[in-house]
Amino acid sequence: MEAIDLRSDTVTKPTPAMREAMAKAAVGDDVYLDDPTVNQLQEMAAARLGKQAGLFVPSGTMGNLAGILSHCNRGDEVIMGQHSHTFLHEGGGISTFGGIHSCQIKEQSDGSLALDDIEAVIRNPQDDHEPVTRLIEIENTHNACGGVCLPPEYIRRLADFAHERGLIVHMDGARVFNSAIAQGIDVKELTEPVDSVTFCLSKGLAAPVGSVLCGSNEFIKKARKIRKHLGGGMRQVGILAAAGIVALDSMVDRLAEDHARAIRLATGLKTISAIKLDPGSPATNMIFFSLANTVSLTTEQIETKMKEHGVLISASGPRRIRLVTHLWIDDAGVDATIAAFQDILK
Ligand SMILES: *Cc1c(COP(=O)(O)O)cnc(C)c1O
Repeated sequence: MEAIDLRSDTVTKPTPAMREAMAKAAVGDDVYLDDPTVNQLQEMAAARLGKQAGLFVPSGTMGNLAGILSHCNRGDEVIMGQHSHTFLHEGGGISTFGGIHSCQIKEQSDGSLALDDIEAVIRNPQDDHEPVTRLIEIENTHNACGGVCLPPEYIRRLADFAHERGLIVHMDGARVFNSAIAQGIDVKELTEPVDSVTFCLSKGLAAPVGSVLCGSNEFIKKARKIRKHLGGGMRQVGILAAAGIVALDSMVDRLAEDHARAIRLATGLKTISAIKLDPGSPATNMIFFSLANTVSLTTEQIETKMKEHGVLISASGPRRIRLVTHLWIDDAGVDATIAAFQDILK
C-alpha cells in the first residue's frame, strides 16, 4: 500500500490526464520561443493572473530569483518577512547571484507585513551610507505563518503604499491559488495590485515540474534573459508545460477539497489532548500544531512511529509538526492519520 504522504503538497504525482497531455504535447525549442505548448501555458497563466506576460521556470525558487534579479540592481535592498520562503529556504540566492541585500521584518500572525514596520526600514536614498530600498516581497499563502491567506484589501493597500514610495512589489505566490480558493475570490484580486508574481504548478496543482513568473512585457523580457543566465532556458519543455496546462485547467477549483480535508483532519486531531493546534489552523491545506509538554516522544520518534502506521509526516520545528493535504490524500487517508496519531500519542 502507498504511504499517506502529508509531508508536503510537492509530493503530488502527475495525473493520468497530465501524462497523456505530456505524451502528446506539441513542442519546439523554447529558447527560440518556438515551443507552442510553453507559449500557451505562459499566456494562460498571465491571463489568469491579470498580467501581460508569463515565463515558465523550472522551480518557484528560480521564479522568485529571476523576478527579484530583474527588478533590482546590485546593492539594492529587498524588504521581506523574516519567515519568508525567500529568506529561509532559497539559499540566499538573491545575494549570491545578484548582490542584493535583504532586510527582514517580523510578519504579523496573519502573514502580512505591517505598513508601519515597512515604513520604519525604508532607507534614505540621499544618504551615502545606505543601500537603496527597491522592492517589497510578500508571500501568499504564507507557508511558515501557517499557510495563511493575505486578503485583497491588504494587498491593494500595500501595493499603493509601495508605489507611492517608488517601490516595487513582488509576490511569492507559490500557493496563490489556494489563497484565492480559500477566500472565494478571483485570483486576479490578489495578483493585479502587485508588479510581479511567481506561482507553483508543482504543489497543490499536482503538475510534476515548474512554476510561472508573471508581470509586464518589459519585466518578463528581462527575466527571460536572467533565466537563461541562471541555466533555466530549456528546450522542448512543452513536455512539462503540457502538464501545467492541465493543472491550470482542472486542478484549481478542486483545491477546495484539500482545504476541506485539512479541516476534517484538524477536527480529528483536536480531540487528542497531546496535540496543540495553532489558533486558526488550518487556513488552507496546511495544519500546524505543537506537542503538549506531556509528550515524551521527540518529533523524530513520532515521524518514525507514524511511518510504521503508513503515514509520512515531517517536523517543522523542535516540537512542531506541519501536515499538508493534497490531491492524493482522501478521506480514508485523513481518518487513518487521525487513528495513527491517537494510537501513538495516547
Ligand atoms: C515551495 C515554495 C517556493 C519554492 O518553490 P520550489 O519549486 O520548491 O523551488 C517558494 N515559496 C514558497 C512559499 C514555497 O512554498
